[in-house]
Amino acid sequence: MSLSDQAILEQLQALDRMHHLHPFTDPQAVKKAAPFVIEQAKGAYITGQEIRLLDAMAGLGCVNIGYGREEMADVAAEAIRTLSYYHSFSAVSNPYAAALAGKIAALAPGDLNKVFFANSGSEANETLMKLAYLYWRRKGRPNKRILISREYSYHGSTLATTRLNGNRPMIEDFGLDGGADVIKAISPFWYRCGGDLEPEEFGVHAAKEIEKKILAAGADNVAAVIAEPVQGTMGAVVPPQSYWPEVARICKEHDVLLIADEVVTGFGRTGNWFAQETFGFQADMMTLAKGLSSGYAPISASVVSDEIADVIEGQSGVLQHGFTTSGHPLASALALKNIEIIGTEDHVTRVRTDIGPYFAKALKSLEDHPLVGEVRVSGLIAGIELAKDKETREQYPLEANICNHVSQMALVRGLIVRPAGNVVVLCPPFVITHAEIDFMVGVMRDALDETYKAIH
Ligand code: PLP
Repeated sequence: MSLSDQAILEQLQALDRMHHLHPFTDPQAVKKAAPFVIEQAKGAYITGQEIRLLDAMAGLGCVNIGYGREEMADVAAEAIRTLSYYHSFSAVSNPYAAALAGKIAALAPGDLNKVFFANSGSEANETLMKLAYLYWRRKGRPNKRILISREYSYHGSTLATTRLNGNRPMIEDFGLDGGADVIKAISPFWYRCGGDLEPEEFGVHAAKEIEKKILAAGADNVAAVIAEPVQGTMGAVVPPQSYWPEVARICKEHDVLLIADEVVTGFGRTGNWFAQETFGFQADMMTLAKGLSSGYAPISASVVSDEIADVIEGQSGVLQHGFTTSGHPLASALALKNIEIIGTEDHVTRVRTDIGPYFAKALKSLEDHPLVGEVRVSGLIAGIELAKDKETREQYPLEANICNHVSQMALVRGLIVRPAGNVVVLCPPFVITHAEIDFMVGVMRDALDETYKAIH
């Protein structure tokens, strides 16, 4: 379908405005302005309505190997011709799902060896919530039901995962607040919450705050701590290095499961296959999605340790959980090929030793800008934290929409970034080049200058 025909474009926009309820969108905005229709994407660029944009967000932080790869199209066609669908209930498998489970187990840290497939990160997290409950019930400790998550977290949009999130409106708009089974601890967000502490001191402090929550609730009542190694959606919060080993130690000491939500960080984003390696800890369970297929198909994985698998599988009785498309052959085939590409093109090493450090150095140069409080980077995920006062780390009021303005100024210059409160988030595809990073940083400086001028 070509959108160069204005009449077709307008017809599609009208259909969209009339019938499409968009996720995480203000419906009033769709009523006021026609949606931007994206037609094509290749490498690190998307094209729509004859505008070509460098996508420094890799979609929603997922298109790690870049858009529109021929090898992926070939694999998809072959998988559909060979086995377009079959389920994986009742001990049935398919070659793609079986190979993918094995591949994930081989790559995953430690003894994270057993994989359950779903379609989205939300479903994978919710699966782990249920598996954590099941594990404790089968261990004869059914009172262990409380989940501890953190402020500034994002774990999904289903009924159960929404309640784990740090963003209040996501919970309150649906009347999902309350309930003693989810407890929020502070985030290791030094810039906002660290006060006078040095970052590494604050890392230990933030971990100990989790311990306080466990003790207050009673460790016998706490099932798990669930947390993103780097909090992506809510502002690319890179924790101090002291944080994760201490959280893992605390969970072990109090017999609480640790769930690493690696939906964003998995498959190389932080310069190792998994962020647990980057931050020096080992979880009991982990969630994978986005980078698992680089967004070529909806697929996610909930991975559990041998010990948890042994308990869950140790008694006969059906696992009363699953999705029609769990282990879907097409999605699994695409995920396998995606992982192969990340390996053969050595993207993980490249993120750790070449393009990641280049990205960090280039973006950090923006810290001299009067609007920028801090630039945080881990591998190829970054947050540019805006500040009203660099000394006191005071924020602009959110109603001032400063961050949206910066992002808009970047967009009109050909660059997609993502505003998150007062943070501009960047999460580019691994195929990004040095020259494209130079362009990105140049655009960001112009966008910041333009915004600064507008408010002074
Ligand atoms: N967990 C994290 C850390 C995420 O960033 C996201 C989505 O952005 C999710 C879970 C939910 O994934 P999905 O949108 O595929 O349900």
